[in-house]
Amino acid sequence: MQQIFHGLSAAPGVGLGNVYKYAPAAQVGESVGERGDGYVAHPAQFGTPVEEWERFLAARLLVDEELARLAQIGQAATADIFLVHREILHDSTLTDAVRAAIDAGSDATRATHLATGQLVQLFRGLSDQYFASRATDVRDVGQRLVNRLGGITSARQLDTLPTGTILLAEDLTPFDTTHLDQAHVVGIALAASTPTAHTAILARSLGIPLVCGAGSEILQLQNGMFGIVDGIRGRMLVDPDEETLEQYRLTRARLQRFQAEALSQSHEPALTPDGVRIPVRVNVNSREDLLHIDSNGAEGIGLLRTENLFQHRASPPSIEEQLAAYRDVHSYTNNHSLTVRLLDIGGDKPVPYLQQQAEANPFLGVRGIRLLLRHPQMLTDQFRALVQLAHDVSPVSRIRVLIPMISKVNEVQQTLALFEKIPGYRHCRQELGTLEIGVLVEVPSAALLARHFAPQVDFLSIGTNDLAQYTLAADRVNSTVATLATPLDPSVLRLIALTCEAGRAAGIPVAICGEVAGDPSVQPLLLGLGLNEVSVAGPAVPLVKSAIRRVDMAAAEALAATALQCSRAQEIHQLLHDL
Ligand code: PEP
Ligand code: MG
Repeated sequence: MQQIFHGLSAAPGVGLGNVYKYAPAAQVGESVGERGDGYVAHPAQFGTPVEEWERFLAARLLVDEELARLAQIGQAATADIFLVHREILHDSTLTDAVRAAIDAGSDATRATHLATGQLVQLFRGLSDQYFASRATDVRDVGQRLVNRLGGITSARQLDTLPTGTILLAEDLTPFDTTHLDQAHVVGIALAASTPTAHTAILARSLGIPLVCGAGSEILQLQNGMFGIVDGIRGRMLVDPDEETLEQYRLTRARLQRFQAEALSQSHEPALTPDGVRIPVRVNVNSREDLLHIDSNGAEGIGLLRTENLFQHRASPPSIEEQLAAYRDVHSYTNNHSLTVRLLDIGGDKPVPYLQQQAEANPFLGVRGIRLLLRHPQMLTDQFRALVQLAHDVSPVSRIRVLIPMISKVNEVQQTLALFEKIPGYRHCRQELGTLEIGVLVEVPSAALLARHFAPQVDFLSIGTNDLAQYTLAADRVNSTVATLATPLDPSVLRLIALTCEAGRAAGIPVAICGEVAGDPSVQPLLLGLGLNEVSVAGPAVPLVKSAIRRVDMAAAEALAATALQCSRAQEIHQLLHDL
């Protein structure tokens, strides 16, 4: 029977597929049995060989039904793939190998792991291109069986999820999310979390629909059930009735059509009918994002989050290592500008080697520039690498350095004073013109005081994810307060307007790189408030450009003036809805 779980829309789009629960091994608890090869299962699940074989057969039946369903909802080309997968599922080479492993003492899950692993190796070793490419299909089928038998328990398995997976979890770390593959994961539903958590930001940049705050009931669902993630209305459905399913298939097709239309013009500039040109750049969180910059038509990188480079390692990267990484990223920009945000750790992104003190409220603690000013070596090393890059790039390119978490004017001054000491800084900023310094306005005090520091920098960028969190005192990773922290609250809009005023007075551009900028429907409001540049998740670039091309600036300014007089976010949503 159809069930609906309501949550919050965290990444747009509609995904149809089979649900699998991700419960990292550490959370499974004491009873977990580790078999030494990364595979983890519950000892309670081990049965006699006969029972294990029956478990395998039951899982195989369910996977067969699952594949039949996927063949039915997909397009003709994908239907063929699922047909091949069904053949693999029943192939005696696979089933005989599973049987042999069970008879030799393995439980069904481990036996499936072993048997598919052997078959994958066998196919990979074949010189015939056709058979070699079947290895991926075998792995897909094997993972589908394993998910049915035991569930997903390690981040490593997230790399190999079968096609058409809807991932369910309590929450995902940003690290887990970087393991996901858009070709295989068609949707994510999280019991907790919020649209501005870094996990949601990553899902958007991967183009995977995501619903968060859907409640712990979603974790009671059985692996393999058929479901829909509706990232537009913020809900998750399982076992949809035929009529609902048909509606969603049509919606998905319509969204794909819009995206394709926008994509066909994505290399044109975003110019309003009155001739205002708005550079549309991309937010980059991972290597994957770099690969699509060109095809999405982004005019450079408006926010490179550098935390990945510093996390999950024992010590900070050297200047040379950083320079190599930034050079590599720059090579994808086509000599457009590259905005690199200085390391913004703390908050929901800790770094073990810094031995940060445990904090009761890490988002209000030593984060971003506060941390960097306490570790000046790390700050200046990162900056040295960026100055070197600015020195080496073509004169038409711009390396823009963005300072995160500024809350006091003297933090800007202290940071600039440290920069002054770096050889080549003045030369690149003042003579070559390839280096620009900007402040990320994401704390209300920074917006209120922007006019004091704007004259000392070259640009401002507004981070509405944090600006909303800090203005409305609503933790960006706590789903119970997520609806409070909307960037379309009039309080946040007033701070955006103040920042734009400060930028205008200082004669410098003001960009927006918070997630709200990726919503095509808010472009009239953003432009009306005075923003000059936007930076958004890669898949949103074409749609945002299309939306900007329809903005009448006079009407947008009138809209912004009305919005600034509103007292509630709902009124602003209504204004946008009525456009
Ligand atoms: C923001 O706060 O809006 C922002 C762009 O930075 P992050 O989401 O990485 O904190
Ligand atoms: Mg931020």
